[in-house]
Amino acid sequence: MKKTLAKKEAKVFCQTDFVTASDKRYSVAELKIEDVRFMYGTGRAIYISGTGRDKIYDYRNGCMTKIGDIEEGEWISLMKFLIERDGEQDLFKQLLAWEIEHNFCNSDKKTLERDTLIRHSMRLFDNVKWVDFVRFNQRYRPEELTKAVLVDIVTDCCGTTDVQTVELINEWPKVTCPRCGTYTTFKKKGE
Ligand SMILES: [Zn+2]
Repeated sequence: MKKTLAKKEAKVFCQTDFVTASDKRYSVAELKIEDVRFMYGTGRAIYISGTGRDKIYDYRNGCMTKIGDIEEGEWISLMKFLIERDGEQDLFKQLLAWEIEHNFCNSDKKTLERDTLIRHSMRLFDNVKWVDFVRFNQRYRPEELTKAVLVDIVTDCCGTTDVQTVELINEWPKVTCPRCGTYTTFKKKGE
């Protein structure tokens, strides 16, 4: 199902071959995921028709990227295309599975997919300060963890041992306990 969709979208981009960002055209073939990395969401009213008090506007959501503001639907199709072109489908599927499993906001499928594309564009899986960096990579990309500096910690809530990156524990005074789920202070193991 997902593959068919990606193929269909890939086709669309092969036909048009360009994407519009802040009213400028860019050749899709020359774009990297980094160029369209999600920075923040945008919204703007688009004038449709009418005058004075009868003016009709439509509202359009967009994604701000390095190359400019791209309409949200177009950005989603573009990201799917670039992920497929760059052979990152497995990584995307893993991140999506992770988001579905940790869907604490009960987001619907469409929202989850969009949010996962956003996180994929931000390379969340490579971010050593991401709270799930160790757990996600333990499951899907253990080779990535060989490059990270990991620290054993013990949570203050129920004394559970956990592993986190040194960058994360230096940045945050608290972590989520893997056993009881409390947002808790911790100590380095042996301290
Ligand atoms: Zn606990």
